[in-house]
Amino acid sequence: MIAGNWKMNTTVKEARALVTDMIPLLEQIENVEKVVCPPFVSLSAIAEVLRGSSIRLGAQNVYFEERGAYTGEISPPMLAELCEYVIVGHSERRHYFNETGEIVNRKVQAALRFNLKPILCIGERLEEYDAGRTEEVVIGQLRSSLSGVESPRGLVVAYEPVWAIGTGRAATGEQANRIIGLIRHNVAELYTEGFARDLRILYGGSVTADNTAEFMQQPEIDGALVGGASLKADQFSSIVKQTSDIAYHLSA
Ligand code: PEP
Repeated sequence: MIAGNWKMNTTVKEARALVTDMIPLLEQIENVEKVVCPPFVSLSAIAEVLRGSSIRLGAQNVYFEERGAYTGEISPPMLAELCEYVIVGHSERRHYFNETGEIVNRKVQAALRFNLKPILCIGERLEEYDAGRTEEVVIGQLRSSLSGVESPRGLVVAYEPVWAIGTGRAATGEQANRIIGLIRHNVAELYTEGFARDLRILYGGSVTADNTAEFMQQPEIDGALVGGASLKADQFSSIVKQTSDIAYHLSA
């Protein structure tokens, strides 16, 4: 799976143009689930443009209440009419908008209740990485995000070391593979071996067309959550194409 997080970029007009450029490039690529996550205001327009294509749609955030006096927030049933996926717990939301582990947990639960598939982001900050606390932080986030979640159907996890997001300093394939293996091991403890084996766990953090292969060749890594490089149709389609080719060779 390759998911593009467009963040706070593109007007509705620009988003429509970007996805229109992407469709002919992505449509012919098989073996990879392709997801784009534009800003809320473009979801409706992009859903129209994507109708009949194999590209899936996701939102970048969701509130945990179903309806009510929460000015400016967007609820799970509002999104469920428009898209299939929703990013939850992105580090930018945790850090700029003070989203705690408890809030992320409530969002995961709310998304699942309305059949939205959460792309749950977890990852350590630079000071935690430097202090050798990566495993403790990442597994702590995983477990608190899934606390009380009995059946996370449709869940996708994205391991995104915060020091690698938007910095041009990606983790190495081996580093990401090791942490993702650890996440899978903990998911097996929380649920079942079978669920953990089938769970898609992505790497995110400065993925580009130039370093995609390093990540996708790793046995534990099932795809990528891509920020900056998902805003260029040719870069994004190159990432998807390389992933498809590697998936094909690994399964042959
Ligand atoms: C992200 O925000 O999820 C991300 C991975 O960003 P970038 O690819 O730009 O580092």
